[in-house]
Amino acid sequence: MLKKVEHIGIAVKNLENSNNLFAKLFGKDHYKVEKVESEGVSTSFFMLGETKIELLEATQPDSAIAKFIEKKGEGIHHIAYEVEDIYAEMERLKKEGFELIHQQPKEGADNKLICFLHPKSTNGVLVELCQERK
Ligand code: ZN
Repeated sequence: MLKKVEHIGIAVKNLENSNNLFAKLFGKDHYKVEKVESEGVSTSFFMLGETKIELLEATQPDSAIAKFIEKKGEGIHHIAYEVEDIYAEMERLKKEGFELIHQQPKEGADNKLICFLHPKSTNGVLVELCQERK
């Protein structure tokens, strides 16, 4: 079962500019910036009630975010749902016919284990599962 929307990921060209922009929009600053080397991204997080907004900037020209922006421009990149047990959910969703992008959870930003579902199996929406690392 997916518990709630944990965060929404937005692809941006320039993290610093977008941190300023979204700080104005939300009326509050981001609470952290984190590089995820394995994904070739720099991220920042804003907390809005129970939900976070993650901004993602590519740090390498071949990262998924760079390719996304090249194809579609800036905008909503993924929706992340919190799960209790990512291994169990990956197993369940695979059985339901969803296509997992990777077969093992990866380390994501914000102390999470994450996994992505291919957007072609989820009506064009890139879905991230995330579990708090224990
Ligand atoms: Zn995310």
